[in-house]
Amino acid sequence: MNFEQIKNDEQKYMMNAYGRFNTALVKGKGATAWDCEGKEYIDFTSGIGVNSLGYCDDGWTKAVSDQAASLQHISNLYYSPLQTEVAKKLCELSGMDKVFLCNSGAEANECAIKIARKYSFDKYGEGRQKIVTLVNSFHGRTVTTLAATGQDVFHNFFFPFTEGFDYAKANDTDDLKSKLTDDVCAVFIELIQGEGGVMPLDKEYVAEIQSLCREKDILLMIDEVQTGVSRTGSFYCYQGYGLEPDVVTSAKGLAGGLPMGACLSGKKTSGVIVPGTHGTTFGGNPVACAAAVEVLSRVAQPGFLKEVNEKGEYIRAELLKMPNVSEVRGQGLMIGIVTEKDNAKQVAARCVENGLLILTAKNLLRLLPPLTISYDEINKGLTILKNTMEETL
Ligand SMILES: *Cc1c(COP(=O)(O)O)cnc(C)c1O
Repeated sequence: MNFEQIKNDEQKYMMNAYGRFNTALVKGKGATAWDCEGKEYIDFTSGIGVNSLGYCDDGWTKAVSDQAASLQHISNLYYSPLQTEVAKKLCELSGMDKVFLCNSGAEANECAIKIARKYSFDKYGEGRQKIVTLVNSFHGRTVTTLAATGQDVFHNFFFPFTEGFDYAKANDTDDLKSKLTDDVCAVFIELIQGEGGVMPLDKEYVAEIQSLCREKDILLMIDEVQTGVSRTGSFYCYQGYGLEPDVVTSAKGLAGGLPMGACLSGKKTSGVIVPGTHGTTFGGNPVACAAAVEVLSRVAQPGFLKEVNEKGEYIRAELLKMPNVSEVRGQGLMIGIVTEKDNAKQVAARCVENGLLILTAKNLLRLLPPLTISYDEINKGLTILKNTMEETL
């Protein structure tokens, strides 16, 4: 297949939604991908934190193809043993109480927002509907999750946005306190802001949020769409922070490459959703569930989590030895790199030419490699990154 032909057809037939790198990927195994012309790439992206077990992992491929050959979809009018298996595993791994299955991060966040507002409506009546998120956050692309996103650049064109969001400055307790007015029903945060530039929240600040929320019966809701499913070295990032949230959202890495989102409720919010208040046609799809069962049975094993942390430490130490690296942030295999020359976009584009898939977030380079990446692949990728840093100095 010819790349120029694919690119021309994309421009002719697809809406111009994305700035894409100049490659068309057609095949992968582990953390290695190949493009339509046979060129090989090391993958430090796993999609955007989606392929948690890498490309075409043997166990994952078997689970998915067996399920596709047995039952591809049923409506949510019927019970599904695969849905209940995913939900049970998620509850056991997270300590949360109940699960709603959907198809994406934005959908999981929509569910969380609906739960927050209905929880408060059921208990206090109208008027306590505001949700406080953080400046520089990212929560999705629907009209409501754009409103939840605390970045002005996203609040354009699509007016009117959903009302009832306010934004507090991250790691600033006084600013948060001033935003927790009587009309607030929930605080909704990422513990490490992903799209916002791999920015972790301070532990003391987050503990303070939790106690302020408890005092006022404000729900603490955590967006783990990017940080979750062992990405940051614990199954969910909040477990590393020692929190007990009321609602948690999950998606990206959950089914290892098939679309799946989940909204998890704590005891306090488990009764909020009742028949008629929420639903989805595709959510909890059996093939996606079979994929998630495989992911969940592997990534939360203590040995697996230990390796995620060790690989993260190793990569961070190697990055700090490279030219053009002024700071390395993040946790586990969610890593942000601040460059001295402030040229992340240029470095990322050149990395692709040199055979390395790598992400950016704001003006940082960002790594979200498959959790199963081998040290051989890590070293190959780091060598390409180092050479590219030197080329672009
Ligand atoms: C990616 C992301 C989302 C949106 O997920 P989609 O599946 O693209 O809808 C929401 N929140 C966070 C933190 C994300 O990283």
